[in-house]
Amino acid sequence: MVLPRCLTDDYDKFVLKYPFTREARQRVSDVALEDVLRDREFLSRCLKFIEDTLRKGKIEYENFQDSENFLLTLYTSIIIVSCLDRRIWNRFADIVSKYFSSNLETEADRECIVYIADEFNISVRSIKKVVHCDKLQIFFDVAVPLHIYLKYCPKNDPNWKLVNRYVARGYVLLTYRELARLVEEAVEKQILNMIENASKNDIVKDIIRDQIGEELKKLETRLLPRTLARIEKIVKNMSEDQIFPPCINLILEDVRSGGNPSHMARFTLASFLLNYYVKILKIPVEEAVEKVVDVFRSVADFDERKTRYQVQHIAGLVGGRKFYLPPNCDELQSLGLCPTEGKCGVKNPLTYVIKRLKMRARKPRTLSATSRENTQ
Ligand code: SF4
Repeated sequence: MVLPRCLTDDYDKFVLKYPFTREARQRVSDVALEDVLRDREFLSRCLKFIEDTLRKGKIEYENFQDSENFLLTLYTSIIIVSCLDRRIWNRFADIVSKYFSSNLETEADRECIVYIADEFNISVRSIKKVVHCDKLQIFFDVAVPLHIYLKYCPKNDPNWKLVNRYVARGYVLLTYRELARLVEEAVEKQILNMIENASKNDIVKDIIRDQIGEELKKLETRLLPRTLARIEKIVKNMSEDQIFPPCINLILEDVRSGGNPSHMARFTLASFLLNYYVKILKIPVEEAVEKVVDVFRSVADFDERKTRYQVQHIAGLVGGRKFYLPPNCDELQSLGLCPTEGKCGVKNPLTYVIKRLKMRARKPRTLSATSRENTQ
C-alpha cells in the first residue's frame, strides 16, 4: 500500500495522533520495558496521566515534549491500568480510542483514514468499485465487507443496525467519518486486549506493585464512583437471598439443587442476574455472562456451549443485539413464577433489588444521624 501524505509529511505528528499503529510501535521499539517499569518517578507521572485522562475524559497530548515520551507514557499507562479494577479498563480504553478516532475524523488526507483502517484489518474498497449509482456515490465514500462491519460496528447504537445501512454486493457503504468510527472500535478492542494480556503477566504486575503499590490503591479508590463503592460494601454484607426477590431465590434454589426449570424460569434468572451484575454492580458484560453461565452449571441438562450462547443473546452480545430486562411481576405471576402473588410492591424483580439496596444504604445514615442528634 502507498504511504499516505499524513505519514510521509510529518512522521512525528503521525505517531502522536495515531499511537497504536505499526509506525508508533516502531518509534519506541528500542526502549526496554524493564527499564521503564523500574523508573518510579516515571510510573508516578503515568499515574497522573491516567487520573487526568479519566477525570477529564480526554487525552491532553500537548503536555508532552515529544512523541516518544507520549507513546511511552501511554503504553506504560495501559500496563498500569491492568493492575486497577476491571471497571476502569473500559473507560480508559474508550477515552484513548476516541482520541485516536477524533484525529482520524478530522484528517484532511482521506487516504490516511483508509491506510490506518487497513492496519487494523478493516479492508476498504472505493465506493465506485462497489456501486454504480451516482446518488449513492455522492452520499458515501467507501465500502467495507459485511463481516468486518459486523465485527466492529458500535453495538448499542440503532444507527449502526444493519437494517438502517445501505448494503450492496456484500459490502456496507460508509462515509469517511463512519469509517473512522469503525476504526475507533477496532482500536478500543486492541487496547482492551493489551490490558487483558498485561493483567496476566504476574512478573510485570509485581514490579509495578513493588514500585507504586500504595499510590495505585489510592488512585483506584479515587477513581471508582463513591455510590458504587457503597453498593459494593452493602452487597458484601448481605447474602444474595437477602437482596434478591422471592421469585429469583426460588428459581436459584431449583437450579442449584440440580433441577430442570422451565424455559421462562431460566430466561428470568439469566436476564435478572445479567442486569444485576452489569447495571447495578457495573461488572463488564463479558464477565457477567461467564458468572451467569456458572450459575447454570448445576442444572440437570447443562450444555455449556448452548448456555453461553443463550446468555450472550440475552446480554445483546449476539443475535438481535438487545440487552433484555427480566419479565415484569404481572407476567411472572401469570406464568406461576411469583410465589408472593405480586405482594412485593414492585413491578419488576430488579426494582425489588434497587429498593433493598436503597433501604440498606439509608439505614446506617439514619442511625448515625440519630446518635448525632442525641449528643447535641
Ligand atoms: S412480586 Fe415481583 S418481585 Fe416479588 S416475587 Fe413476585 S414476581 Fe418476584
